[in-house]
Amino acid sequence: MDKISVIIPCFNEQEAIPVYYDAILPVMDSMKEVTFELIFVDDGSTDGTLADMRDMAKKDHRCRYLSFSRNFGKEAALYAGMSNATGDYVAVMDVDLQDPVELLPKMYQMLQSEDCDCVATRRADREGEPKIRSFLSNCFYKFINKISSTEIVNGARDYRMMKKNMVKSVLEIQEYNRFSKGIFQWVGFRTVWLEFHNTQRCAGKTKWSLAKLAAYSLEGILGFSIVPLSLASFMGIFFCIVAFFMTVFIAARTLIFGDSVAGWTSLVCIIFLVSGVQLFCIGIMGAYLSRTYLETKHRPIYILKEESQNQEEEGRQDTEVAQS
Ligand code: UDP
Ligand code: MG
Repeated sequence: MDKISVIIPCFNEQEAIPVYYDAILPVMDSMKEVTFELIFVDDGSTDGTLADMRDMAKKDHRCRYLSFSRNFGKEAALYAGMSNATGDYVAVMDVDLQDPVELLPKMYQMLQSEDCDCVATRRADREGEPKIRSFLSNCFYKFINKISSTEIVNGARDYRMMKKNMVKSVLEIQEYNRFSKGIFQWVGFRTVWLEFHNTQRCAGKTKWSLAKLAAYSLEGILGFSIVPLSLASFMGIFFCIVAFFMTVFIAARTLIFGDSVAGWTSLVCIIFLVSGVQLFCIGIMGAYLSRTYLETKHRPIYILKEESQNQEEEGRQDTEVAQS
């Protein structure tokens, strides 16, 4: 019998977890041909999230949990969940029911019937999302797809179900600065897309402020394109050409009209502009350098504080002891 591992990252989600569990229960019951393993990952929550998880693991042997020593971010939570998954198929989804649980049977069935390794989802619309957030997101996707050779699909969710072989490849990427949307595309394999309408959170609040989203977008750009690094060279060439023509112009003017002190204001403007461009380029190099620095430290992607006892493991060990 096939087994599906569902990975659910949670950060301060005490209100959403019980609602999520109630929603996924009928789905699990309806899929009689598979067994389930729900892996809840507590990403350093400070509310009752971990207590909820402990309760569920006690109540339902299909529920497991991993708890981080602090908040490492959703990307780290996904990585931890996938590293600990034992299923033949692995699904990743948010706990706030913005990723519809009803799609799970369809995803599983598509993985069986179609020649693909992953069924991923994308939102067909951004209904209910603040306008400014939609606008900035659209700009981000347009920009990153211009400068990156890895396609980052607009509206793509992390919500997807993958076969074991794809998960193994995703886990082989052990980067500390992770951008899953890019990683899932980068590893390749055949992905089929399912579309769904945007829904609102079932409970709790979004953990993504505009500043956090901006940092996440930057992660994507720096992780999947090195085009910004060439910016300094292009601007350098541009300014050299401009400087050449200006020198010719000023020399000709001095020869014809004699020397004049006029033009110092434009000179100051040019100095400011060129200094700004130089600092900007140094900043870009710094951003790449800092990420390289963090990668060379080889720090773990996450640190576990607590995890549920794997019931199956326990069962197996008990049997082994009984046999010896
Ligand atoms: N999440 C997490 N760690 C974080 C932030 C978020 O594990 O540092 C989880 C969160 O609990 C949720 C999912 O990632 O299950 C998506 O977060 P959220 O719903 O806040 O993002 P949005 O849907 O607003 O983009
Ligand atoms: Mg959400």
